[in-house]
Amino acid sequence: MTCALHELTPLAPPLVYVIDGEDRIQTLNEAYLADASTWGGDPDAVRQALVGQVLWQVLPGVGEWYGPLVRRARADQREVCFPFRCDTPDFRRLMRMRITPQPRGAVAFESSLVGVQPRAHVEVLEGTGASGGSIVTMCSWCKRVDADGAWLEVEEALARLGADAYHLPALSHGICPRCLGELTALAQSPDATLSIDLPEAP
Ligand SMILES: [Zn+2]
Repeated sequence: MTCALHELTPLAPPLVYVIDGEDRIQTLNEAYLADASTWGGDPDAVRQALVGQVLWQVLPGVGEWYGPLVRRARADQREVCFPFRCDTPDFRRLMRMRITPQPRGAVAFESSLVGVQPRAHVEVLEGTGASGGSIVTMCSWCKRVDADGAWLEVEEALARLGADAYHLPALSHGICPRCLGELTALAQSPDATLSIDLPEAP
């Protein structure tokens, strides 16, 4: 079975990195290095800093879920493919991740931008800190926000929570119950998938 996400055409060159059988970063493609250098450092410095490092040590936080998905790809010798959101204050961005087994235990990670929606600027996504003191949880995978138990797009959640420009909450990152259940299923079978998407256009 081929992942349905394969039908989506990448809107930008995919970002690719490969780990060896001991989870050490072997290669990073030019697109990855160019993207990484936009948040600091020149591409050569990024490459030098990352190649040879154990993935889970340089990208803390990814191990909890990427570890089981990588084990699944290696064990079944099959690609694990899923969508996730990588939003900015001005755009909702749908990404596609393909985790593909390679010879000798190596694994390739390819993330591609497959959908973009412009949005009115969301200040809370700047991550510059809160002015109102409260803390709300954003799901790291689907980027929905917990509004008293309802997981909503950040704009809807802030409206429901009564946030305004002077009383913005701080975001902490977690995982919503839907993504937790779907990732658990995906770690057990590459035929499972995640329902992460962009919201319907109004
Ligand atoms: Zn989620």
